Amino acid sequence: MEKEKLIDSWDRDHLWHPYTSTSTPLPTYKVESANGAVITLADGTELIDGMSSWWCIIHGYNNHRINAAANRQLSKMSHVMFGGFTHEPAIELGKGLLEVVPPTMNYIFYADSGSVAVEVAMKMAIQAAVSKSGDHKKTNFATIRSGYHGDTWNAMSVCDPVTGMHGAFGSALPVRFFLPQPRSRFDGEWNPADIEPMRSLFRERAGEIAAVILEPVVQGAGGMWFYNPEYLRQARKLCDEYGILLVFDEIATGFWRTGKFFAWEHAGVEPDIMCIGKGLTAGYMTMSAVLATKDVADAISEGEAGVMMHGPTFMANPLSCAVAVESLKMLREKDMASVIENIEGILKEELSQAKSLGNVNDVRVLGSIGVVEVDRSVDVGKFQEICVRKGVWIRPFGKNVYVMPPYVISDEQLRYLCRVLVEIVSDERNY
Ligand code: PMP
Repeated sequence: MEKEKLIDSWDRDHLWHPYTSTSTPLPTYKVESANGAVITLADGTELIDGMSSWWCIIHGYNNHRINAAANRQLSKMSHVMFGGFTHEPAIELGKGLLEVVPPTMNYIFYADSGSVAVEVAMKMAIQAAVSKSGDHKKTNFATIRSGYHGDTWNAMSVCDPVTGMHGAFGSALPVRFFLPQPRSRFDGEWNPADIEPMRSLFRERAGEIAAVILEPVVQGAGGMWFYNPEYLRQARKLCDEYGILLVFDEIATGFWRTGKFFAWEHAGVEPDIMCIGKGLTAGYMTMSAVLATKDVADAISEGEAGVMMHGPTFMANPLSCAVAVESLKMLREKDMASVIENIEGILKEELSQAKSLGNVNDVRVLGSIGVVEVDRSVDVGKFQEICVRKGVWIRPFGKNVYVMPPYVISDEQLRYLCRVLVEIVSDERNY
């Protein structure tokens, strides 16, 4: 690798990258192009992608069908305001989405990013809860520890208070109710004790809680933990009993990542409000959506404001919608259950090699997510330098070294990716 071509000093001196310091930034590698599951760096180095660019490039890079859909829409209009106008891409996408989300979802609010979707969902929940109960105190939220819901203000407030951003923003953040993380594993026995803290909280504070927000089954950026679907069934029961809304954040879990179209299907539990993003546009551009039941929408419309109080400039951006329509078509044409099952099988086979390592705490695989949890926080810069040398792209966080590849990855590419991961992890000096 030719360092001067790969590390741009102007970038280093002037551009902020995610979660980095300007005085001691992590190295950033210059990308020239990307195709399928391969990212090509400025010096020609090819990397097999294990990250799907933070989990969104589901069909791989530079997909000809999605490129063509974007070009077709570009020649008509790239954007038009959604206030007072509508357009075919928004309608077609909406129709397609309602066929794949939980049947009770009936209204769609298009938003700009995952974090904004969470903000919108929280605003919806408050408007609906206050309208339904007539109680202006019913405006707080409950969630579980080790969750992640985004970087904007309210989204941050429901992220894990320790691994999230509470440390940096402290008392500036609204104070939420945090329940323990359910410890019953996805594929293990259900321990009924997991749900008791939620029952106790609701018994005492239900009058203050508008909604519970959860990432169903898979907690992503807060800890890469897969919990028992029974937790969701129990949570649904308690929410119904105490008049509390249930919000599912499916931004990371949606579009087949966990082996189902959406993760709620693992439990058969439908939320009142649901956020989707990331894979929605196959990672081509930023767009998200918040879906709600008719009951929630009616409560908002009958409430004091009488309207849903949000309206972003780029709402239902036609270019994003057109791309999302094509991506959805591609997902529905293929037998995605088999595609993900195949990825899951390879991840299980290859990553299980790490189980016997003394410095590995846990190995877990669900759908196209493979996690090797090591015994201490990984030095990301050091780890990635080795990855780049070996021709793969993996970006660990905390103790979690994980892969979430694009679904187009070949079996050989995936096996190589996993083998390099296990090889790096097997020597503690590498991280
Ligand atoms: N919710 C979840 C579950 C996520 O994983 C993420 C992104 N990692 C977000 C919300 C925020 O999405 P965005 O980065 O698009 O704002």
